[in-house]
Amino acid sequence: MTLTRARVRVEGIVQGVGFRPFVHALAGRLGLAGLVGNDAGGVFVEVEGAAETVERFLEVLAAEAPPLAVIERVTATRLAPTGAEGFAIAPSRAGGERQALVSPDTATCADCLAELADPADRRFRYPFINCTNCGPRFTIVRDVPYDRPATTMAGFAMCPDCAREYHDPADRRFHAQPVCCPACGPSLALVDRDGRPAAGEPLAAAAARLREGAVVAVKGLGGYHLAADAAGEPAVAALRAGKHREDKPFAVMVADLDGARALCEVDAAEEAMLAGARRPIVLLRRRSDAGGRVAASVAPQNRSLGVMLPYTPMHHLLLATVGRPIVLTSGNVSDEPIAYEDGEALERLGGIADWFLVHDRPIHMRADDSVVRAFRGRELPLRRSRGFAPQPLGLPWPFPRHVLACGAELKHTFCLAKDGHAFVSHHIGDLENYETFRSFTEGVEHFRRLFAVSPEVVAHDLHPEYLSTKYALELEGVELEGVQHHHAHVAACLTDNGEPGPVIGVAFDGLGFGADGTIWGGELLVADLVGFKRAGHLEVVAMPGGAAAIREPWRMAAAWLDAAFGGQPPERLAVVGRNRDRWEPVLALGRSGTASPVTSSAGRLFDAVAAILGVRDAVNYEGQAAVELEQLADPAEPGAYPARVAGPGGDGAPLRLAGSDLVRAVVEELEAGVATPLVAARFHNGLAGATVAACQALRDATGLGVVALSGGVFQNLLLLERTVAGLEQAGFRALVHSRVPPNDGGISLGQAAVAGARDRARGPGPRPDRTHD
Ligand SMILES: [Zn+2]
Ligand SMILES: [Zn+2]
Repeated sequence: MTLTRARVRVEGIVQGVGFRPFVHALAGRLGLAGLVGNDAGGVFVEVEGAAETVERFLEVLAAEAPPLAVIERVTATRLAPTGAEGFAIAPSRAGGERQALVSPDTATCADCLAELADPADRRFRYPFINCTNCGPRFTIVRDVPYDRPATTMAGFAMCPDCAREYHDPADRRFHAQPVCCPACGPSLALVDRDGRPAAGEPLAAAAARLREGAVVAVKGLGGYHLAADAAGEPAVAALRAGKHREDKPFAVMVADLDGARALCEVDAAEEAMLAGARRPIVLLRRRSDAGGRVAASVAPQNRSLGVMLPYTPMHHLLLATVGRPIVLTSGNVSDEPIAYEDGEALERLGGIADWFLVHDRPIHMRADDSVVRAFRGRELPLRRSRGFAPQPLGLPWPFPRHVLACGAELKHTFCLAKDGHAFVSHHIGDLENYETFRSFTEGVEHFRRLFAVSPEVVAHDLHPEYLSTKYALELEGVELEGVQHHHAHVAACLTDNGEPGPVIGVAFDGLGFGADGTIWGGELLVADLVGFKRAGHLEVVAMPGGAAAIREPWRMAAAWLDAAFGGQPPERLAVVGRNRDRWEPVLALGRSGTASPVTSSAGRLFDAVAAILGVRDAVNYEGQAAVELEQLADPAEPGAYPARVAGPGGDGAPLRLAGSDLVRAVVEELEAGVATPLVAARFHNGLAGATVAACQALRDATGLGVVALSGGVFQNLLLLERTVAGLEQAGFRALVHSRVPPNDGGISLGQAAVAGARDRARGPGPRPDRTHD
């Protein structure tokens, strides 16, 4: 028998996922000697034995890896046999280049749930039970290598029983860093808003208070939530008042899939999303017969409901004890970031919550719940955060240099990229105040450390007033790469699909700074990752009063009616009557151009139509009018309003989609007494039809047969479905998002991809002098 020894390096998400015990067990099974350990590059292994057994080891290594591991590369080199016997777990090695990937927080596994429910188990009903296959990760990791001292579990010394499991290679908790039990781990407490403990067992007491109608702040995995009995109208109303959140829907947590089915229609794809290890909020269609189980004010005017399943043992116990669905919404007031530090939470949420269900395991990284919808059986992310971040997205094209992409403003994320990986951050929030800005800059530092990225290229939006742009422009010693907002959307969609383009890109959103300094938002680009040409756009109208027109969709109705009716908008419409006092001045403001920039925004067209149809004249959150217009539309209606597509002219001028045609048709049918759900649907279908027609004209001009759909407006499933169906019918291949959101949460990935592509296009050699100085 020929002895051989191999040194094996395993890269990917291989730390904190039970990889070393798996290797230990595998080597033991095959009778191989050697060692396994973690270092900053991932997992290192040395195995010694018969040549064919070492071969076998390498085959099984990738094929049978633990459930949470994501293996990206296994490399093996031959060493001289040492004759050493036995297989050992080597101490972690610090230093060196850090490439190990920290895994996302993961929902409690089936084995842990079984122990949680077993009266004979020493962790029976212990709210912090976890193992190598589940539990907190990203939110508790302070540094790499991922070992207990580098997590917020550092302060909890293991008891002898936990230590035995931790050191036993045959145990499910072997080297599970957050391992703990009632004797040695974190514990729960229920306190009032002054921090005084309540009587009784904390979970039972919190559940009782919830059933009585109290609002309870609950410390979770990535921050505090505010909880209330979902069926209790007064409690939900109190929660709304306290959060200053007038109509934005709340999410609901249910105990299990049956609980979700009692409230909503759930198909197989949605079940998989609800019950998977990431546990996002899934937007589901409400059942018409579920009335009463959820208070009306949970998701007013909404046919869908955001539902999630418990993802920590504490949530499982709480839901089982309360015995019915609870509202679980982020612990913040209005648009502040979610609270995650204990003292701060008590202070910030004391005005809303009656009680605080807290624990003593610190949260290092704030992470909001993720939100997804299903589109044609695939995940359509709306917010990619807890459970997803910081798992890297693999790209088919390596980045020549390290990149930081600073993102945009609303629904902000940033992205660090190197080699073949893009690390899109958790959801930061709307980058409009000091708090969120600080969480952005601290987040960048944390990611740089965790993933050993030293950005040489920094990508940013072109909007000069975004805090993310200002941050980029102030960095020293880096090369700056400005990326137009809608190009970034299209690039995000390309990257999401692993395609380099060129494609016809359709980017429909609220607004973004255009390459010509005007506000864009209804764009057709011929684009690849490096560059783009503005090949078409929605007809341009004024935004009377600028930002005021975003908050007050009736102003956009005035501007669109003015454009659609040649300066003589019909006076008899209800939207005119409701805003009679300010109608003429706002029309005049829009015509004058004073404080009224023009825009090609698709989002603003939805606003205008929503106001005309009486959906609403003013919004309480971004995109509300458009969301409610989608809710109003009858999904069974096939009719569509025609809209002209002008161009392209011989002069290369962009195509123009006549939004005015849609607005006129809406008004005519409204006045003819057609029901608003039909009018709303025909408007959706009409815009989809015009978009398809425009893509056909661009295909004739360019020969391109692939269309990438991106931008926040494509969170609208009705518009997305009709556009994709129309494109497919016309022989196009349509690319949609499934890994990052179509909204501005995906912008940072697009920016990074563009910066990397431009870097590759320039090739090696001297760099143009674009460095900020
Ligand atoms: Zn587990
Ligand atoms: Zn213990």
